[in-house]
Amino acid sequence: MTTSGRRLNENVLRREDGSIFCAHCDQSLEGGPTDYVSKLPFYETTVDAAGPHIFTDSRAFVDTDVVFRQYICPGCAVAFHTEVVPVGEDFVPS
Ligand SMILES: [Zn+2]
Repeated sequence: MTTSGRRLNENVLRREDGSIFCAHCDQSLEGGPTDYVSKLPFYETTVDAAGPHIFTDSRAFVDTDVVFRQYICPGCAVAFHTEVVPVGEDFVPS
């Protein structure tokens, strides 16, 4: 059962003390509202995992290889953020 908190988005809630946690499993998350994604565990795989709507040959458009990356909750593994980015690129908040 999820404790109460102010909703930041569908996956993250914020307590009155400013700490944030998963809306699905109550796992406390590192960081704050603007940088928590960069502190989440993530996995990377080939771009075809993003689905058929993503063209897999990035070299047709850019001069670099790209990877499918998904940031997940450390408690329940719900996907918090998904992106297709150049190999080795750090998370950049939007
Ligand atoms: Zn969770």
